[in-house]
Amino acid sequence: MKTNILLTPGPTPVLPEALRVMAEPIFHHRTPQFRAVLKELFELLKYIFRTHESVYLLSASGTGAMEAAVVNFFSPGDKVLVVNGGKFGERWGKMAQAFALEPEIIHVPWGHAVDPAEIKKRLEANRAIKGVFTTLCETSTAVLTDIKTIAQYTQNHQALLVVDAISAIGGEDCRMDEWGLDVVITGSQKALMIPPGLAYLAAGKKAWNQAQESKFPKFYLDLKKYQKSLLEEDVPFTPAISLVLAQLEALRVFKKEGYEQVIARTRQLAGSVRAAAQAMGLAIYAKAPSNVVTAIELPEGVDGSKLVKTLRDEMGVTLAGGQDQLKGRIVRIAHMGYIRSEDLRAGFQAFAEALALQGYKCETAKALEQFK
Ligand SMILES: *Cc1c(COP(=O)(O)O)cnc(C)c1O
Repeated sequence: MKTNILLTPGPTPVLPEALRVMAEPIFHHRTPQFRAVLKELFELLKYIFRTHESVYLLSASGTGAMEAAVVNFFSPGDKVLVVNGGKFGERWGKMAQAFALEPEIIHVPWGHAVDPAEIKKRLEANRAIKGVFTTLCETSTAVLTDIKTIAQYTQNHQALLVVDAISAIGGEDCRMDEWGLDVVITGSQKALMIPPGLAYLAAGKKAWNQAQESKFPKFYLDLKKYQKSLLEEDVPFTPAISLVLAQLEALRVFKKEGYEQVIARTRQLAGSVRAAAQAMGLAIYAKAPSNVVTAIELPEGVDGSKLVKTLRDEMGVTLAGGQDQLKGRIVRIAHMGYIRSEDLRAGFQAFAEALALQGYKCETAKALEQFK
């Protein structure tokens, strides 16, 4: 098979230790053996969420956990604030609408982060707001949201702060307990180094209190079922067993390196990627850039869609392009999870070659130097 360097913001490359356990014969999940796996995994999940609360495991993609947040902690007609500065904020809005919440959308210009003061203002203007739906890293624009400051405002208000940290946890600093986040969500295929298929959700006391009043019908995503099972180190429905084993391996590796170290390493990679792009004469799109993914503006005259295709089909490097208004105008390069400096070096080498094919010539030595 042709080598393929995967530099998309999900899925991301899988840790070799995780790949190995997924190749092993399956075993039954209602066994002491699997309970021991879950027990250790639940502890490691608390470690990466920076929380003492239980973290629930859903066999679903990340969006499944977003939906679980809506149906467990809210009721039809609840007024909620939604921060929409890209495709994933937009998804919160669509989901709120689909479930007949009453969303008030804060439209943030793409590339910018929401001003926390705007959230403060709207919360003060409306004491009835029940939730604030946010995205820690808005993967479509590579913008990082100042969740820590926003949490200071939701703590003085009944509204729950719900954070889509699907692309962020494991790469961005995100401290659920210390910052006072009410509901935090992530997925397995971004910074957590395994394939898609598992989602995780943790909720604090304020959220569980509001859950008592929730009037949505629910079954598969009813977190009370997961809460009950968790008391016995179990899950209510057949989990994606092989992925659970893989996640345990990956989080063992994560913990061995250490939370602070992984976050610092990811931040450093992000700095290298930004410096490499700038050394090639290219601008960084996000005004508040994240540490897990970088959006790079393409020069005038370069067809971004064609560029991504050339890289993927002829050079074995998969990057993400832009969506909607950014289609053809940016590329997004991930640097989270198991993506390493040498992958980024090879990625940038190919990126420069693909740009040259479209007539944009630049000096690459200084860019590649970033990835020693
Ligand atoms: C990837 C991603 C999602 C979507 O997750 P799925 O696993 O595709 O359901 C949601 N939010 C953010 C910020 C993401 O990066």
